[in-house]
Amino acid sequence: MSSRPVPMRLMPETARIEADGSLSIGGCSLDDLADRFGTPLFVYDEDHLRSRCREAVEAFGADRVIYASKAFLCAAMARLVDEEGLLIDVASGGEMFVAMHAGVAADRCVFHGNNKSLDELQMAMTAGTDTQDRPGVRHIVVDSFDELDRIDHLHSRGAPTPRVMVRVTPGIHAHTHDYIATGQDDSKFGFNLANGDAAKAIDRIRRSRSTELIGVHCHIGSNVFAVESFARAAEVMAAFSAPLDLPELTLGGGLGVAYTESEEAPTLTAWGSVLLDACRAHGVKSAVSVEPGRAIVASAAVTVYRVGTIKHIDGIRTYVSVDGGMSDNPRPVLYGSGYEAFGVRSVAAPRDMPVRIVGKHCESGDVLIFEGHLPDDLRIGDLVATPVTGAYGHSMASNYNKVPRPAVVFASQGSARLVVRRETYEDLVRLDIV
Ligand SMILES: *Cc1c(COP(=O)(O)O)cnc(C)c1O
Repeated sequence: MSSRPVPMRLMPETARIEADGSLSIGGCSLDDLADRFGTPLFVYDEDHLRSRCREAVEAFGADRVIYASKAFLCAAMARLVDEEGLLIDVASGGEMFVAMHAGVAADRCVFHGNNKSLDELQMAMTAGTDTQDRPGVRHIVVDSFDELDRIDHLHSRGAPTPRVMVRVTPGIHAHTHDYIATGQDDSKFGFNLANGDAAKAIDRIRRSRSTELIGVHCHIGSNVFAVESFARAAEVMAAFSAPLDLPELTLGGGLGVAYTESEEAPTLTAWGSVLLDACRAHGVKSAVSVEPGRAIVASAAVTVYRVGTIKHIDGIRTYVSVDGGMSDNPRPVLYGSGYEAFGVRSVAAPRDMPVRIVGKHCESGDVLIFEGHLPDDLRIGDLVATPVTGAYGHSMASNYNKVPRPAVVFASQGSARLVVRRETYEDLVRLDIV
């Protein structure tokens, strides 16, 4: 099974095997990009990013797709999704700052989070005061009674009335890793439907003059493959929201993506049909929005590493060490996530050598691929790449071991532009005060 070449369906849309057997993305050879920008390197296929945005807008409608920026955010990405007509979901003051710094209007941002601070709420309620008829973000998704207290307080001090949605915890356990399941009753997120908190929150907001209620929201979790889970959430939310007669309903993000040969995920288009059909079948009259993150960006990128050390332990295994690791992709350590890898100079070669691909950090948990396969002619200095690293890689990157975070390039039609430069050693001491 695993000795087969890496499946091209896991690659970004414009990935091609060139005449010499090596890979290009957006018409740019990964070899050249590695020489030019160094490794590790995140290479995004810009056309792929744009076509996922367009697919989502096609499925749900203009202004009905809210990109969950935590999956991958930098100024260029914020601009790209804005150009494609998506709204942006920001879940911290920092994400909001980056989006606005990139030129995204406050009223194209939706503010999220289970523990928004007074400062963050102030920012969400007042941003864009100079440029918009109505200041503030498009809406705030309120998550707790404490947050409602904080909004009341800011409003009483003169902050404008925000539009809000109520985040409902619908009591659905999505089939995914426990750390990223968010719709079950035992969750830090939202107002529980089952114990009546969601209804109480709505009642309170309706009687308050410091908020304007526009809809209800749920998000059942991330990397969910089972469309039935989404249909079930839509059904529960439809039943809950129908009597409220509100203009909007947001059904969250969470659509899974295939990371490995054995995985298969629904497309954004298929996801759209499932959600919208379920809403229609249950009489939803509100406008339905979604917040995909992973499904927009994950398979748009590969990470390119250089192999530094190969250690064969007879009868045990072969370790291939690359120049990145858990600092640029913590998902294997956090969730035990699987990835594929391939040798960049011979993408179509069989991968006959079982290997564990590890990083350069000082712990044994620093694993990128637990049970991987690479071509058996692998040499020190070769480039190895992992596909489907566009989501929750760069955005979760750290400086562990004071390893500078990688650069990010967007490749399209034969040219590559640097959108996040590699950190330097100087960056590592930028915050130190001596
Ligand atoms: C993380 C998150 C999303 C996006 O999840 P993906 O799995 O990346 O699609 C959407 N909505 C909320 C509220 C989230 O927390």
